[in-house]
Amino acid sequence: MVHETGYYDLLGVSPKASVDEIKKAYRKLALKYHPDKNPAEGDKFKHISQAYEVLSDPQKRELYDQGGEQAIKEGGMGGRSSPMDIFNMFFGGGGRMQRERRGKNVMHQLNVTLEEMYKGTTRKLGLQKNVICEKCDGYGGKKGALEKCSNCKGKGVQIKVQQIGPGMIQQIQSMCQDCQGQGEKFNSKDRCKNCHGHKVERKKKILEVHIDKGMKDGQRITFHGEGDQEPGLEPGDVVIVLEQKEHTVFQRQDDDLVMKMNIKLVEALCGFKKTVQTLDNRMIIISSEAGEVIKHGDVKSVQNEGMPIYKNPCEKGQLIIQFQVDFPEKHWLPEHLMYQLERLLPPREDVMITDDMEEVDLCDVDARTEQKNNSGEAYEEDDEGPRGGVQCQTQ
Ligand SMILES: [Zn+2]
Ligand SMILES: [Zn+2]
Repeated sequence: MVHETGYYDLLGVSPKASVDEIKKAYRKLALKYHPDKNPAEGDKFKHISQAYEVLSDPQKRELYDQGGEQAIKEGGMGGRSSPMDIFNMFFGGGGRMQRERRGKNVMHQLNVTLEEMYKGTTRKLGLQKNVICEKCDGYGGKKGALEKCSNCKGKGVQIKVQQIGPGMIQQIQSMCQDCQGQGEKFNSKDRCKNCHGHKVERKKKILEVHIDKGMKDGQRITFHGEGDQEPGLEPGDVVIVLEQKEHTVFQRQDDDLVMKMNIKLVEALCGFKKTVQTLDNRMIIISSEAGEVIKHGDVKSVQNEGMPIYKNPCEKGQLIIQFQVDFPEKHWLPEHLMYQLERLLPPREDVMITDDMEEVDLCDVDARTEQKNNSGEAYEEDDEGPRGGVQCQTQ
């Protein structure tokens, strides 16, 4: 039984969510609320990470389901990894050694349709990124004109003395604003006019993202060295994470496509022909022979009409069809014709009825009786009418 659902709510999943659903929810939210994208929502990123850290671990999840956040804290199982570590582990970020010489990797989510993953396509993605200033080659100003910062005397830090109470003073050390902690700066006339001494400029870059046939939801496409540029650092990568939009007809299961198909009772018994529009806009005909009999809930498959296999797109998975048989509404057939229908159907079984048996009514199970069955309290409150009036109670 789940008492507390805060972590589930944070990820926007139900307490019954599968591991895959939890991963998917984290992936989406972590990309959205990463401090690089959404600096104002820093806490949200932290909370999502905490929720994911607990719910992605079966042991911690069980503990949480039993005793909530309190149990996690008491069990010493909370907050072992930093939100960034969780993020990097999930998305496979580079190790620490690598990060010192390289700029950060930047992740982007790209929404794609199932059709695009079936047919393959190229999408253009416009990104804003820092590039080394062309005018000053990343130097920031006129070569050799760099002078010691007069504000911090070259130390790069400022020390402020503040009185915080009678006879108490506090020293606060902060980065020098004048030179951005560099200790050196350009005189305003020597500073690069293009980048204002920042050494980099913001530029728009168009990336062509090739979505290959058969690519999957959550798949990553890496553009090496396309991250922000910074003097003295090798730029990181831009990583595109594919997010598949829901499709109205097909659901994907690995390389298979799954769809529901409603057929009428007459079609279930006497055969049918139905058309299905494929993801590449062909029409295929699905048929069943007369007498084959498709039952409600039957599952059939069509070979080679699923998703193309990634890197081997001539091969395809299967199309899996889950049949749902629509029965006719009540009294669709005049009573005097029932006999004729019955003659055609397989015979019914005889039932032995004896005098000591009791005949009871068969009712629809409505919301009211269902509630009574599930909760004991409803019994107590039910004061209207005699007890005998409750006839449809299933025991
Ligand atoms: Zn300074
Ligand atoms: Zn410049």
